[in-house]
Amino acid sequence: MERLQKVLAQAGLASRRKCEEYITQGRVEVNGEQIRTLGAKVDPVSDVIKVDGRLINRQNKIYLVLNKPKGVITSAKDPEGRKVVTDFLPGVKERVYPIGRLDYDTEGLLLLTNDGDFANLLTHPKHHVPRTYRATVKGTPHGTLLERLQKGIMLEDGMTAPAEVDYHDVNPEKNESVITITIYEGRNRQVRRMFEAIHFPVIKLKRIKFGPLLLSGLPRGKFRPLTTEEIEELK
Ligand code: URA
Repeated sequence: MERLQKVLAQAGLASRRKCEEYITQGRVEVNGEQIRTLGAKVDPVSDVIKVDGRLINRQNKIYLVLNKPKGVITSAKDPEGRKVVTDFLPGVKERVYPIGRLDYDTEGLLLLTNDGDFANLLTHPKHHVPRTYRATVKGTPHGTLLERLQKGIMLEDGMTAPAEVDYHDVNPEKNESVITITIYEGRNRQVRRMFEAIHFPVIKLKRIKFGPLLLSGLPRGKFRPLTTEEIEELK
C-alpha cells in the first residue's frame, strides 16, 4: 500500500504538493469513494483511482481510437518504410500497439493501447466483441446469399459464426451495393473472404463500430483518446 498523493504524483499528474491539494479539494476518488484525507493509503495496482473523474494510471496507460485511412499498415513499424498506423498519432509519446488489425486497404475504427490486458481481453476469441463493417461490393448479392453469410459460411479456416447482415444502399448505375455486416470474430481478412465465398468481392471496406464504440465524427486519419466511460464499457 502506498500513500495516495505519492501514487498520484508518480502517475505524472502533478507535483506531490499539488496532488495533496487535489485530495483536500475533494477531486480524488478511490474505488468510487471520495477521499479527502492525506493519510489515505491505496493499492496502486488494484485500486481504481480517479481525479476529476478521469482514471489515473501509474503506468500511463493510454487508450486511443484512430480512424485509419486505407493504404496504411496496422503495425507500429514497417521494414519496407510504408505508412503505419502510429504515423497518425502525433504527440503520443507512449509506445502503443493496435488491438487487432485492419488490412492495408481497410479503413475505419482501430483501437490502440499500451495496456496488454485490455488488448487481450478485446481480442480473445471467447469474448465475441461485435465488429461492424460497411462493405461496398461489386454487384447486388440477393437475400439468400446474404442469409448464408448470416448463418455462417465455410471458409478455409472453418465455419464462420453467425453474423448480422443488412443492405445499406444499392447503386445500380455503378453496379455496387453497400452492405453492413457485424461479425463476432476477428479472423484474418474475414469480411473480404466471406464476400469472396459468395462471389461478390469487396471493393471498399470500412469498420464503423467496435463493441459499443462508434467511429462517427472522427475524421479520416485522426485519433482521440477514449473517455473513461468508453474504456469501462469496452471491458
Ligand atoms: N475483415 C477484413 O476482411 N478486413 C479487415 O481489415 C477487417 C475485417
